[in-house]
Amino acid sequence: MKAHDGMYIDGDWRPAVGPDTIAVVNPADEQVIGQVPAGTAEDVDAAVRAARAALPGWAATPPAERAARIAALRDVLAARREEIAETVTAELGSPLGFSQMVHAGVPIAVAGSYAELAASYSFEEKTGNSTVLLEPVGVVGAITPWNYPLHQIVAKVAPALAAGCTVVLKPAEDTPLTAQLFAEAVHEAGVPAGVFNLVTGLGPVAGQALAEHEGVDLVSFTGSTAVGRQIGATAGAAVKRVALELGGKSANVILPSADLAKAVNVGVANVMSNSGQTCSAWTRMLVHRDQYDEAVALAATAAAKYVAGDPHNQASRLGPVVNAKQHSRVRGYIAKGIEEGARVVAGGPDSPHERGYYVTPTVFADVTPSMTIAQEEIFGPVLSILPYEDEDDALRIANGTVYGLAGAVWAADAEEAVAFARRMDTGQVDINGGRFNPLAPFGGYKQSGVGRELGTHGLAEYLQTKSLQF
Ligand code: NAD
Repeated sequence: MKAHDGMYIDGDWRPAVGPDTIAVVNPADEQVIGQVPAGTAEDVDAAVRAARAALPGWAATPPAERAARIAALRDVLAARREEIAETVTAELGSPLGFSQMVHAGVPIAVAGSYAELAASYSFEEKTGNSTVLLEPVGVVGAITPWNYPLHQIVAKVAPALAAGCTVVLKPAEDTPLTAQLFAEAVHEAGVPAGVFNLVTGLGPVAGQALAEHEGVDLVSFTGSTAVGRQIGATAGAAVKRVALELGGKSANVILPSADLAKAVNVGVANVMSNSGQTCSAWTRMLVHRDQYDEAVALAATAAAKYVAGDPHNQASRLGPVVNAKQHSRVRGYIAKGIEEGARVVAGGPDSPHERGYYVTPTVFADVTPSMTIAQEEIFGPVLSILPYEDEDDALRIANGTVYGLAGAVWAADAEEAVAFARRMDTGQVDINGGRFNPLAPFGGYKQSGVGRELGTHGLAEYLQTKSLQF
């Protein structure tokens, strides 16, 4: 994918107002693979104006026609699947097979789900003597991170378009090429000019200008809790809607009746996938005291199989982390875990390769709930295993962080696991390894966020109600 040197605004690639650019770096070999413009407040303003001008026409477009455009977008993404996978691998570093299956596959499924929902959803309800109209919120400012670069864009743009909103996207600075490819796909799908706009740029410049712009009606943000808190405050002061998908520190609770080997192996795979850069990863494994040593040995063996290497090599089960900053941050957390007394049973802080931002998959045993590695989001291939005494203790540990994004429970029968899951303060729980469902609401309890993405709940974020009384 060749980088565009402009912004996609009002249906066209336009030169950026300022001269600055952002270098895109391949984290596997640290080579610069492209340059994209670093947008300014003026670029953001032009994009918001285009989105505002396109709003009345798109909002009035019949849902069936909006659905047809989203279906066309899904088809373009499907036709360009290989290119998407190659682009994500080039700028994020994930193994190519994972990029094909997940980074390309999931957004295609999500776009498809919104093509169907836009066509079938009832944008009008009756209650008593009222008719309730579900109308688009307006212009959406979407700000996305780099870890699932296309998924996070589609999880915002597809429901926004389905609802009749128009969008300005500011993607992460590490993965702008995937966002440019998405803009090309929107264009190819025949979405009218101005309905979707892209401004690449730095978070504190272009991102902040978008979040603060008075022409934006809803800010939908996915990223760190620190930036989310700031965006929430800005939106609150302007009495503007906001959706926040933030960090996590999810618990994988293995009850004594569970198939221990399966639960541990799936748990390790969950943490290592995407080099641990998954906000919903189960980074804390909770095991009963009596099974603890066995679980630790199983996890260490499983983690050793995750060989980090060239994402184009089929033997690599793990790529690098996204950039130099994350590389030192993640290894800093590993050093902190050792310093606070946790026991390394696999991996450690040393990089497995001289070149590229690789981290050795790491497993810690003897982790206590108050340790930094058990409380803070690491966002790397690092698993902490904590022992518990009984179910109440497991629940206290599982719920004992500021986050509440996801989790897992394993038990001999689903009912036992569900009873435990009901007591967890978290937005998503996988029961005995339940599969990802693109229609299930995704979002956080506590400091993991506000609002939900995906399915009908995700669509509702982009709608506001008007009641007519008869
Ligand atoms: P980040 O918060 O630094 O950046 C996210 C986005 O916000 C980027 O586009 C960035 O340019 C922009 N941004 C940065 N500063 C800004 C500002 N002052 N104003 C407006 N925009 C700004 O996060 P990151 O490092 O890109 O992503 C990693 C974090 O995202 C992790 O904490 C992870 O848990 C979280 N995350 C959450 C979810 C979820 O669905 N809950 C999904 C993916 C990532």
